[in-house]
Amino acid sequence: MAVGVLALQGSFNEHMAALRRLGVTGVEVRKPSQLESIEALIIPGGESTTMAKLAHYHNLFPALRDFVSLGKPVWGTCAGLIFLANKATGQKLGGQELIGGLDCTVHRNFFGSQIQSFETELVVPKLAEQEGGSDTCRGVFIRAPAILKAGPDVEVLADYAVPLDKLRSVVSDAEAEEAIADSQGKVIVAVRQGNILGTAFHPELTSDIRWHSYFLKMRKASDETSLECLDLSNQNSCYHLGRRTFDLPIFE
Ligand code: GLN
Repeated sequence: MAVGVLALQGSFNEHMAALRRLGVTGVEVRKPSQLESIEALIIPGGESTTMAKLAHYHNLFPALRDFVSLGKPVWGTCAGLIFLANKATGQKLGGQELIGGLDCTVHRNFFGSQIQSFETELVVPKLAEQEGGSDTCRGVFIRAPAILKAGPDVEVLADYAVPLDKLRSVVSDAEAEEAIADSQGKVIVAVRQGNILGTAFHPELTSDIRWHSYFLKMRKASDETSLECLDLSNQNSCYHLGRRTFDLPIFE
């Protein structure tokens, strides 16, 4: 199975490394035609405005939208999440082009600028239920967005508590009332809607490969053989964990 990683800008290399650690070949995607030969796509973190300009330059948007609407698994991390959202707020004047598909409103740079980047433990029961291991994961937030509003078909996989005054200070007046009323003191930082997975943080920068494993299992259930391969508890698993000494991730 070929899994593509959009390789225009940002942390695509780290995603490629995480896939390698799971014994899966990643394909760096830069052209629309490459999307035809992959079964799933990861859109990395980086800078969504830059990525959008490059995607536009390479005429990737129509093919990316087709890929999402065909029901193929797509995972956006951080800037990639912004890319997949139906609506982004906190944008520069004039906005930016999005792929869309994920019924969410995502606020860019919700947690602040580079120096407000942080790491935290996130409670992720649904990830642990499927992938095993701890019911928390390390969330690396780098100029990260937050999801302020999610539609009825969106499953929340992780959220993060924020003080209400923080919410008020970040979102604009018009958005504030609704967002604050709905938030219950939390913002959403990981979601799934059918074939779309979105995380506001960067699992590819940690040694925890469970998000990548979770994503790979989102491929069509018809591919039984591959799914067996992805069962970490299966002794005959075709993962090659431990085969490589780690080059990445950055954080151990
Ligand atoms: N702040 C970036 C953006 O809006 C996202 C940061 C990231 O991907 N780590 O595009």
